[in-house]
Amino acid sequence: MIPYFIDFQNLREELKRKKAEKVLIQVPEGMKIYALEIADKLRDFDVRISSNPTYGACDVEYYKDAITVQFGHAEIPNITYPKDVIFVEAFSTRSFKEVARKFANSAKCEKVGLIASVQHIPAMEEVKKIFEEEGINVFVGKGDGRIKYRGQVLGCNFSTARNVAGQVDCFAFLGTGKFHAIGARIATNKSVYILDPYSNIITNVDGDADRFLRQRFGAIVKAEEASIFGIIVGTKIGQKREKLALALKEIVEAKGKKAYMFYAGRINPEDFYYNVDVFVNTSCPRITYDDYLRFPKPIISPIELQIALKIKAWEQYSFDEIVEVDRDKY
Ligand code: SF4
Repeated sequence: MIPYFIDFQNLREELKRKKAEKVLIQVPEGMKIYALEIADKLRDFDVRISSNPTYGACDVEYYKDAITVQFGHAEIPNITYPKDVIFVEAFSTRSFKEVARKFANSAKCEKVGLIASVQHIPAMEEVKKIFEEEGINVFVGKGDGRIKYRGQVLGCNFSTARNVAGQVDCFAFLGTGKFHAIGARIATNKSVYILDPYSNIITNVDGDADRFLRQRFGAIVKAEEASIFGIIVGTKIGQKREKLALALKEIVEAKGKKAYMFYAGRINPEDFYYNVDVFVNTSCPRITYDDYLRFPKPIISPIELQIALKIKAWEQYSFDEIVEVDRDKY
C-alpha cells in the first residue's frame, strides 16, 4: 500500500478535464516501488511510466502527445512549465508526535524555526501544536518565488529558513537525510536538528556542516591553482542558469584563464572526463556537493569560483541556492 496521501480523485478529474489519453507518470526514486500501484489507479488512461530518474520539480519530462504527471514534488512557482504538466504531491502519513515531544522536552531552544521537505509539510501543524503546548515559540517562514509552501525547503533553496533566522534560536527540520539540514545550517548559521519520524531520533547537524565546509575549502584551494575551467550548464527546465554560467566564463577569462562551456540534461560524473582542471556547476547544487568525489576533477559552485578567483572573501561563503532560472519559451 502506498504510504502517502495522494489525491487520485482530483487527479483523475483534472486528467478528464484536460481530455487526457496518454499519460506519462514520473515518480521520484524513493517512490518507484509504488509506480505500478500508481499506474493501476489511473487505469482509465493510457499510462506510461518514465524510468528516467527525477529528483525535483525542476526536472520534468514532457512530450507533445502526452500529459505528464509528476508525483511527489510541489511545483516551483516561478518556473514557466509547459501546459500539459500536472504536479501531484505525495504527503507522508507518518506522525511526528513522538519525536516532536522528545524534542520539546529536551529544551534545545525556546524559539524554533520549523522547516520541512515537501512530503512532511502537513505534519508542521501537528509539530507546531506540540511545541506550543510545551511553551516553545514557533516560526514558519515564507519562501521566495521558488517555494510553494511556508517552511518548505529544497536542496537548492532555504529562503523559508533564512527569512526567520533572525527570530529563532535553532531550526527543527522535519524529514530524513542530512543534506537539507546541513544546507539550512550554512544558510542561517543557526543550529539545525533533524526530527526523523521513522526512527524518532533527533540529530544535530552542526558538526556535519563544519566537515562539509572543510571539504568545500579544500575544493576552493584546488581551484585557486587551476588555469582551465569547465563551466556546466544544466538544461533541465528548473536547473538552467545559463546567464550565470556566461557571466562566470567572463570572470574566468578576465583573470587570464581559460573557460569552456558544457551543456547536459542529466549530469553524470562519468561523462565528464575532459581535460580541464576544475568544473564549475551552475546546475542542481546537489551535484556539486553530493557527487563531488565521483567527478574526475574537483567541482565547485559559482560562489566558490568567485572565492577561488579572489573576487569574494571566504567570509562571504554561502551555500549555492537557486532563486530563479532562465526562462525558456514553449
Ligand atoms: S535543482 Fe536540485 S535541489 Fe533544486 S529542486 Fe531540483 S533536484 Fe532539488
